[in-house]
Amino acid sequence: MTHEVFNWQLKRPMDYKYPEARPRRQAAWIFDTNKCIACQTCTIACKNAWTSGKGQEYMFWNNVETKPWGFYPLGWDVRTLEKLGAQAWQGERYTGKTIFESAPFGEEILGFLPDKEDWAHPNIGEDEINAPLDEKAHYDAQHSRWMHYLPRICNHCTYPACLAACPRKAIYKRPEDGIVLIDQDRCRGYQECVRACPYKKTMYRALTAKSEKCISCYPAVETGCQTQCVVNCIGRIRLFGLKHAPDQAQAENPLDYLVHVAKVALPLYPQFGTEPNVYYIPPIHVPTAFTRQMFGPGVQHAVAAYRRALDDKRLVGLLMLFGATDRIITTFKVEGEINGGYCVGFDEHGAEIVRVPITEPTIIRERFDQARQVYRHSVT
Ligand code: SF4
Ligand code: SF4
Repeated sequence: MTHEVFNWQLKRPMDYKYPEARPRRQAAWIFDTNKCIACQTCTIACKNAWTSGKGQEYMFWNNVETKPWGFYPLGWDVRTLEKLGAQAWQGERYTGKTIFESAPFGEEILGFLPDKEDWAHPNIGEDEINAPLDEKAHYDAQHSRWMHYLPRICNHCTYPACLAACPRKAIYKRPEDGIVLIDQDRCRGYQECVRACPYKKTMYRALTAKSEKCISCYPAVETGCQTQCVVNCIGRIRLFGLKHAPDQAQAENPLDYLVHVAKVALPLYPQFGTEPNVYYIPPIHVPTAFTRQMFGPGVQHAVAAYRRALDDKRLVGLLMLFGATDRIITTFKVEGEINGGYCVGFDEHGAEIVRVPITEPTIIRERFDQARQVYRHSVT
């Protein structure tokens, strides 16, 4: 039996196993792909925190792959995309089928179970560009050769495929913040969740014969802190918070502003139909034929809005708040103008927790320091 639920990312109703049960505020992330340097600090921060035990050696709840050739596990997205067939959009409405609607006869969800070896090459395709370069070729302004980094975690989906697939009802979505968890006592390791998750973000631990996944650092979130992958990000590309559904969006909420107001951050493969809650600012140098399939029809608007960020001081201010505090920012405001102004973040009680200049000050020091009678090698 299925229920009709509304998927705002597809702008249409769709079939799902359970009735719509949206949390009031959903745990969500924004990743700015333009700033990621693939240093993998997030990967290691997560691994140190949660998957350093026996039987977890191959597990990366957070991974960073290079598109178009990077995959963890091997071919995770192209294999499902191929099975899904044509993925048509009419304007912003998805007219193709989701993984729930295109399940083969006798199954509930379109999926596949990766082989053990598919998990063994998390760095495959790293830093490889989309096509070979001819001898003596050089990069041109049109970026005919490109690659981009794609950091990935569990999306804590609004309609999780893992949850729908579990015959033991061991997976649940917390009503207070939408975090998706696997009850280790109920799990029997059937791996139906691994087969169903189109992002391949549940992983099987043979040692315990149970499946595991990202837990959204819930002990930190419950004390008002952002997740480990966010607070340790070297590139300051990440922001974690709690967002509302589009009809309840609040412009002063950082996540709502980026996703629903500025529409600069987009879901990953929305056509899968799970309504994922990690939102990406798409890479602006990659042809939209590629990024449109990856992030949906909002790509052109998102790229244009990002390029024009200096016209929107709230957008620029918010981008400066990424990685500026380990606390969850509930609301924000901009004081002053882009030059000389500040972006200020507040916690859920309205107390100020962070304040950053919107434009970083540039200080030029004299090459010869008269007071100290020394030359400086770095003067900026
Ligand atoms: S820590 Fe940040 S910059 Fe480094 S790989 Fe992870 S997301 Fe990218
Ligand atoms: S990304 Fe996969 S594991 Fe995470 S909630 Fe969605 S379906 Fe489940």
